[in-house]
Amino acid sequence: METFAEHYQTMAATVLKCMPGADMELIDRAVEYAREKHKDQKRKDGSPYIIHPLAVAEIVAEMGLDTDAILGALLHDCIEDTDASHDDIAKLFGNTTAELVEGVTKLTRANFSSTEQEQMENLRKMFMAMSKDIRVVLIKIADRLHNMRTMQYQSPAKQVIKCRETMDIYAPLAHRLGMQKIKWELEDISLRYLQPEAYQEIMSYLTAHREQDEAFMRTIQNKISVRLSSVGIQNTTYGRIKHVYSIYRKMQAQGKSLDELYDLYAFRVIVDSMPDCYNVLGHVHDLFNLVPGRFKDYISTPKPNMYQSLHTTVIGSQGIPFEVQIRTWEMHETAEYGIAAHWKYKQHSGDGSEKDFEWVRRLLESQQDTDAEDYVHSLKIDMFDDEVFVFTPRGKIVSLPAGSTPIDFAYAIHSGVGNAMVGAKINNRIANIDAKLQNGDIVEILTAKTAKGPSRDWLTICKSNQARTKIKQWFKKEKREENILHGRASFESEMKRLQLPLTALADPELAQQLLKKLSFDNWDDMYAAIGYGGLTATKAVGRIRDDINRALKAQVTERIPQSLLRVSPDSQAVKQNRHGVNGVIVEDIDSCMIKFSKCCTPVPGDAIVGFITKGFGVSIHRADCPNAAHRDDPRQAARWVRVRWANADEQPFDTTLELDCITREGLLLDVATAMTTARIRVKELNGKDLPGGRSVFTVRFEVKNVAELNAVRNRLLNIPDVVGSRRGQN
Ligand code: MN
Repeated sequence: METFAEHYQTMAATVLKCMPGADMELIDRAVEYAREKHKDQKRKDGSPYIIHPLAVAEIVAEMGLDTDAILGALLHDCIEDTDASHDDIAKLFGNTTAELVEGVTKLTRANFSSTEQEQMENLRKMFMAMSKDIRVVLIKIADRLHNMRTMQYQSPAKQVIKCRETMDIYAPLAHRLGMQKIKWELEDISLRYLQPEAYQEIMSYLTAHREQDEAFMRTIQNKISVRLSSVGIQNTTYGRIKHVYSIYRKMQAQGKSLDELYDLYAFRVIVDSMPDCYNVLGHVHDLFNLVPGRFKDYISTPKPNMYQSLHTTVIGSQGIPFEVQIRTWEMHETAEYGIAAHWKYKQHSGDGSEKDFEWVRRLLESQQDTDAEDYVHSLKIDMFDDEVFVFTPRGKIVSLPAGSTPIDFAYAIHSGVGNAMVGAKINNRIANIDAKLQNGDIVEILTAKTAKGPSRDWLTICKSNQARTKIKQWFKKEKREENILHGRASFESEMKRLQLPLTALADPELAQQLLKKLSFDNWDDMYAAIGYGGLTATKAVGRIRDDINRALKAQVTERIPQSLLRVSPDSQAVKQNRHGVNGVIVEDIDSCMIKFSKCCTPVPGDAIVGFITKGFGVSIHRADCPNAAHRDDPRQAARWVRVRWANADEQPFDTTLELDCITREGLLLDVATAMTTARIRVKELNGKDLPGGRSVFTVRFEVKNVAELNAVRNRLLNIPDVVGSRRGQN
């Protein structure tokens, strides 16, 4: 078991070594405070809890951060795990320290495990956005590193969860912040728990070859440093085996076994100046054979995380290739500690030159213009200021513009969710729908089928264009009925103005042609477009005017000879072989428009007569229709023509039946069921109560002919309490 004293001493020694200007007295007070607060707590291995903050502080000291960061590291679990509050810490150790601890606590409480790979970048962004101060991220990384180092005390399930999170969040962040050393260690420990077999295989291979490897590395290292010393270049040269995870990755990527992998070795030559780097490169290429295409100059072109070095791969006399990395001490610090090295420069050079600001700025990929002076003092993470990251209840991350509300969230999920929204919960509490969402919030939208839809003022509350567009769409669609009404009225009045018959629209063939010309699928869509203002009535009518006129003209040339416009009940001379239009043959007329009267809804099999309408074509009535009763009247006679059904009965016809019933419950349902059983398409069904316990049901439906109509009628009359029936007269 590790003791407090041991850990305290190594921590203090590291602080003194890496941070000469640190306030040791304040640090000691924080150690005592944390020790007292955590005194009843133990680590999983049984050691006193204070060991953990001490170890984290030591890692932070190695990074070379400042006194505030060390205090933050020492106290980092106090708010979360003890009764200490933000104010307590602020009073004793200053506001900055309290803010750092608060920041770490927030990250500790947030859940950064997501199963969806494409969400990882957002998770990392959220992590950064929640941190506000870069030191919070660094303390949290140090915290995770120590927890990873002591991972053997955790349960296997927890090991896997923590290691995944480390691979998804912490290692990539360490990489982005340029902290190579920490990144490697995090990756290696994770691999050990996530792929134990692969990890063990690589480890035992390396152990088995250790002597051989070390001998090889000594030879190469000697060769390089002897040559460099002989030409007077001060250098520190050493070889190393690449870290386990990078070997594992190479095996995976290249599909090779360990024996087949070359390139396991890397040598580092660290020198005092940049010109020396290029000199060393010349000597290395002189000593060994160059592997073509492997030279990289990251000094003239640094990596985005500010990494600088020369990389080259060469082959020695044993035929084993190896990489040589050449850099200055300053570049080395940057490579090992990344952003944390910033504090080292500040402490050593004391001035914090403009170059350093640029360095940090690029490291954080900040897009905002910040006052450089201010920037380096607080090192605020403002790069994600314009975004906010929140969770769905299932843990999916949704990224929204900063200042977004539950309305934006709902529409980001789905427009159906937004339109049915009646309220919202944030972190399991009912919230206003105009509440501003914070990073890490868990947002739940309450919906109801009875929701009235968005209200107009949502347009001013929401922040995202996506929500605004979808709300506007809703209003456009919701007002469709109204738009159709208005559109239709102005379209019809324009038709009237140009003296075009509206009946033209009723002819299916012509209508199809006209709609095609207008680029609409149906009249309602066109009316809606006119109503919405997407199309003017003048333009629409103008576009179809010629087509209508042409159709009218064609009809005029086929005008019926006067002699035939008479009812001739006994005429045997009528030709029988005219073809049917819409299932009806108008005798002696080759082709004309047909329409079925609405008043008596004739169906095939009914006795019918035709009436030549003033506007357009022949309208068909049942022979017993009251409107056809006066066809013998001399004033009308000329316009009544003989018509009959064609044999084709593929086309269904609308018809109406009225049922006389004795009122009882469930009757409507019985009627509906009878119709369904008969496989009849019902278009309308309603009942009306009459005095004296009677009622009338009107049912409008489609039938192919009178035979089918009679079958349906019999079926309906079989329903108890249906006492009579009648063909409908509208
Ligand atoms: Mn911790």
